Amino acid sequence: MAGGKKTMNKAGPAAAHSSHEDVEELKTAIRSHLIYTVGKEAVSATARDWFLAAAHAVRDRVTQGWMPTLNGYYREDSKRVYYLSMEFLIGRTLVNSLINLGLYDAVREALAELGQDFEEVAAWEVEAALGNGGLGRLAACLLDSMATIGVAGFGYGIRYDYGMFTQHIEHGWQVESPENWLRYGNPWEFPRPGVIFPVRFGGRVIHFRDSRGFNCSQWVDAEEVMAMAYDVPVPGFGGKKVNNLRLWSAKSTREFDLKYFNAGNYIEAVRDKNESETLSKVLYPSDMTERGKELRFKQEYFFVAASIQDILSRFRKSHSDWEKLPDKVAIQLNDTHPAMVVAELMRVLVDEHELAWDRAWEITRGCCAYTNHTLLPEALETWSVDLFSRVLPRHLEIVYQLNHEFLQGVRYRHPGDTELLNRVSLIAEGADRRVRMAHLAVIGSHKVNGVAAIHTGLMKSTIFSDFEHLSPGKIINLTNGVTPRRWMLASNPRLSALITQSIGDGWYTDLDQLRKLEAFVDDPAFCAAFVEIKNANKRDVAVMIAQRLGIEVDPTSLFDVQVKRIHEYKRQLLNLLHVVVRYARIRANPLLESQPRTVIIGGKAAPGYHLAKLIIKLVNDISEVVNNDPLVGRRLRLVFLPNYNVSTAELVMPAADLSEQISTAGTEASGTGNMKMAMNGALTIGTWDGANVEICEEVGEENMFLFGLTAQEVARHRVDGYDACAAVRADKELSAALDMIGTGFFSPDEPDRYRALIDTLTVGGDHYLLTADFAQYVAAQERADRTFADPETWTRKAILNVARMGKFSSDRTVAEYARQIWQAL
Ligand SMILES: *Cc1c(COP(=O)(O)O)cnc(C)c1O
Repeated sequence: MAGGKKTMNKAGPAAAHSSHEDVEELKTAIRSHLIYTVGKEAVSATARDWFLAAAHAVRDRVTQGWMPTLNGYYREDSKRVYYLSMEFLIGRTLVNSLINLGLYDAVREALAELGQDFEEVAAWEVEAALGNGGLGRLAACLLDSMATIGVAGFGYGIRYDYGMFTQHIEHGWQVESPENWLRYGNPWEFPRPGVIFPVRFGGRVIHFRDSRGFNCSQWVDAEEVMAMAYDVPVPGFGGKKVNNLRLWSAKSTREFDLKYFNAGNYIEAVRDKNESETLSKVLYPSDMTERGKELRFKQEYFFVAASIQDILSRFRKSHSDWEKLPDKVAIQLNDTHPAMVVAELMRVLVDEHELAWDRAWEITRGCCAYTNHTLLPEALETWSVDLFSRVLPRHLEIVYQLNHEFLQGVRYRHPGDTELLNRVSLIAEGADRRVRMAHLAVIGSHKVNGVAAIHTGLMKSTIFSDFEHLSPGKIINLTNGVTPRRWMLASNPRLSALITQSIGDGWYTDLDQLRKLEAFVDDPAFCAAFVEIKNANKRDVAVMIAQRLGIEVDPTSLFDVQVKRIHEYKRQLLNLLHVVVRYARIRANPLLESQPRTVIIGGKAAPGYHLAKLIIKLVNDISEVVNNDPLVGRRLRLVFLPNYNVSTAELVMPAADLSEQISTAGTEASGTGNMKMAMNGALTIGTWDGANVEICEEVGEENMFLFGLTAQEVARHRVDGYDACAAVRADKELSAALDMIGTGFFSPDEPDRYRALIDTLTVGGDHYLLTADFAQYVAAQERADRTFADPETWTRKAILNVARMGKFSSDRTVAEYARQIWQAL
């Protein structure tokens, strides 16, 4: 065996030379995997076969660091951090692994010597899209950073057979198609048929007195499904640590219980088997909301129950004392989706291991911590008591008992305040009684965190203000970050090479070192190289747009990019109103000199979110008219980029000049797309929302285009009432733009298509206050135009953005979690 040495090489597209020995060894490994793993010969191998062979060769190298890491955690009895998330939006793995292992150049060379083009081979990887958007991508960035900074971090999630759908555009409309990402096999995973746990649903609870005279409960007559583990190694940068992501797949118990087949009812048994396996069949594609779906509820419990069994069995291998659990185990709940952990851990400790209730509660709270991702009321999970009692009867009892004790404590401290009791109760009373998962997560955790300073402040002053008073200090802020390995080194090799040439390679794992770039803002050679890199990245995107969409865009125009899930609160419609105003100005004044712009919008809409899908159609309708109007010339293009996913993001982020982060203040918890673009040299046009506020603190307000109402002003409008119709009447350009859209200028085939959409902004009351921010937004866009027209000034600002984004490395985020929540560094 080659040993660990080879995996420790200095890495990156920017790194120097790979050794001849490494290249030879990799060639041998790839050839051998092509034959023995893929079962092909070089003469008949397709690019996909070469991809699979290369991936297996790389996986071998990853695995060499994996066993020592996991053994080391046992040997040192490290505190383990379990990151439980319904979503891991990983994207492709090959390039990222090569960079983290320092094998990028070596594998490129090896493939070249085998007659294969690296880019072509790498393009065959199907991305692991086991997430919707920001929340799932955050989970993936945190895993990378945990392995990089040396936290014993384990991800737990679901191995969906079908991840995020593929988005096609047909006649301008979004059409979803399932992505069977496992069809050609997943070279990065290790199936663990031996790691399998039962998960129960339904049944009933019996109460009895045990031999000691204690009251006991047991959950009986439940149906069983098995959760089988698939492990994905997660290499940190530099290859020092390789952590594990364990994804659960549902398997029927019947498969493991031959007697059902032997009993003769073969067909019935197989049918049943299929039904239980639907649990891990598909990711729910609605970002933020999934109301009342029984399958979703079961998915959540499925991965919680399997993970808790696994976590506790690992703990019991080296410990017998349950009191030690919080010293050895941290469980981070990524949103409330895994909040059932609180009830499940109580159930296992009390019912199965016979711990006293109060002891079990201490232990549970000592282990758990909860990350909140949204303040939007429609996105806060609740489950009907009825569903809860049918599917998890014992857990409902536990929730009731926890609630009883919690409310007793509150009543004792605030006698007579029944309003307070109603507000903080785990149960929302009413005709349709519901369990509030966020409240369960809060009382079951020792720390609760928001994901940006403004978001945490609003958590404390709005949705969790009662909890903030009851347990001051429990709610803390840990601002999100993104991994610079994927979002700079892998996605922007040109810029990365320039940075490394200028300041060395320490920034890969210490992003604050980017500050050294400030010394180069007046260096003409550096500035010229920086500009040329942005232009090259823009040319790449222009080529992609021409190939995929047949639209010619001018790579020297200002690339104005808004890529993210389509949501009313993110206000893609505000962006479109600006496009329409620009277009109307050109039409009104054909000789108008206007900074050429390419507006790029991309993102998926939840399949049932009609307004979001209509917004996609509107982008395409407007782009059809604008892009084909000879009057416009090169001044304006609008492009809808289909199927926005991690791979598209990696291509687009480095090419953005202007990053659109224009959510209504107080609605975007953090945002991470804002970070990815700014660290790749885009200037942000944005509201005082989420992490924009902290990006502004770092890069300076003079290096961004901030506009619009503050969260406080938004709140005041909501209380005092806001007259959208009056605002529209008062703004000629705005009313003209709304009229154009609303009366079918862009949809002559169906003039009323956008009537209802436009009505939400006027008679509908404009909940997200687009009309209130419109004038300031357009003014900010004009500032952006003027600045872009002065390339030296723009470039200086862009460089300063890159130089000052160090805070937004997920390494910093993870270090804060480790010190402030997990006690694991
Ligand atoms: C970063 C990222 C997101 C999150 O973007 P926001 O602008 O923060 O909403 C969503 N999807 C993908 C594919 C991403 O890479």
